[in-house]
Amino acid sequence: MKEYSRKIEKIYCNLCGEEIKKADGSDIFEDHLSVDKNWGYFSKKDGENHSFDICERCYDRIIDGFKIPIEKK
Ligand SMILES: [Zn+2]
Repeated sequence: MKEYSRKIEKIYCNLCGEEIKKADGSDIFEDHLSVDKNWGYFSKKDGENHSFDICERCYDRIIDGFKIPIEKK
């Protein structure tokens, strides 16, 4: 979830609700997963746009539950 003004002021993790902080002394947010999905034909959400942000800690918990591990390059 992002709160907008002219620039992105704050980003919250949709899973844990914690704010994704900016790196010390900078205007750059700590790295996180940002998803913006336009659902299309043959889905039950045709025409909907879903977006969310996930912090790195929650990301690690999610991928730990995968039956097939992620691909790392
Ligand atoms: Zn989180």
